[in-house]
Amino acid sequence: MNLLEKSVRFTRAREAQAAGYYPFFIPIEASSGTEVIVRGEPKIMMGSNNYLGLTHHPKVLAAAEVALKRYGSGCTGSRFLSGTLDLHEELEERLARFLGKEAALVFSTGYQTNLGTVATLIGRGDYIFMDKLNHASLVDSGRLAYGTVCRYPHGDMKALERQLAQTPPEAGKLIVTDGVFSMEGDIAKLPDIVALAEAYGADVLVDDAHAIGVLGEWGGGTAQHFGLEDKTTLIVATFSKSLAAIGGVVAGPESVIHFLKHHARPLIFSASMPPASVATVLAALDVIEEEPELRAALWRNTRRMQDGLKSLGCDIGESETPIIPVLIGDLNILAIQWRALFDAGVFTNPVIPPAVPQHSCRLRIAMMATHTDEQIDFVLDLFAQGIKQWAAM
Ligand code: PMP
Repeated sequence: MNLLEKSVRFTRAREAQAAGYYPFFIPIEASSGTEVIVRGEPKIMMGSNNYLGLTHHPKVLAAAEVALKRYGSGCTGSRFLSGTLDLHEELEERLARFLGKEAALVFSTGYQTNLGTVATLIGRGDYIFMDKLNHASLVDSGRLAYGTVCRYPHGDMKALERQLAQTPPEAGKLIVTDGVFSMEGDIAKLPDIVALAEAYGADVLVDDAHAIGVLGEWGGGTAQHFGLEDKTTLIVATFSKSLAAIGGVVAGPESVIHFLKHHARPLIFSASMPPASVATVLAALDVIEEEPELRAALWRNTRRMQDGLKSLGCDIGESETPIIPVLIGDLNILAIQWRALFDAGVFTNPVIPPAVPQHSCRLRIAMMATHTDEQIDFVLDLFAQGIKQWAAM
């Protein structure tokens, strides 16, 4: 087949566009956090990962403005060469403390952080053990690494143990898991994972993209939630969710961070995080410390939405966090439900393969601390009205 033939034959997205059921790449014209404007119309944002609503917090915006003026709009160089600011180093020290680790290293995205960490540490003869529902960036990190990747069914500790037991005892082993699973909203069984890691001499990496600012005594994430910071070798987090910017961090032993600094290609060969983003994350960490009531509000809103959906008979799977999937299954029914909510003024995320397994399509709702009761109840009312209609499909 001609190289470009596949792009000509790819018609599914165009068909959905023509039918008016295309839910991707929707341009947002303005945002106030929980409300966005799309084609001139207001929509309640129920699909962002802005868990604490900090993208519009006055202290965060002020800090970003100061950094923009002091350092300019971009670093135009990689961390390795001309792109390290004193602000990057301040952020690394701050995050190491926040995550309870010796040291930390900041990358330009969470995706790059996972690629750079896993693919750099795992060499020939080493093994990676991955939950099958880990985020795509972890899956891709395994593809890039020279070692062997073993994938275990979601949360299946018996399968993980079998795989560990079959691995040469002297081999390097890294168990890699999402802390909060991004499409399910359930929490990794970290106590079991850590126990297996100790039994089989493995290290543990937790991707806390959806747990930072959400779980743990002060929002330190999944390891903090379980009191297992010391037993979790590496914690990765993104800044593109609770921390209201873009970028990522890996935190762990100083020697590992030093090694990654000098070997991780996604760090060395890509420009560094822009100044305003770094300042945003520093200010977001201040707000997280100063305003714990935001985390309390996030959890109150999460319970209100989860309880409301459950009482309407919606299947929200194993969700135990602000990520609430409404499981639908069939792609066409998902498209109809998404569109009905969108037309009524609610922005949700439809999730389809390959992000989730076949026939496991879902609407993904993500709660924010700043949602009002009125906004939540409005969405629940729409589900209540739609439920009978959708059930008949
Ligand atoms: N890990 C997880 C679990 C994620 O959900 C995401 C983003 N959706 C990433 C990593 C990548 O983060 P970023 O957006 O910062 O590249």
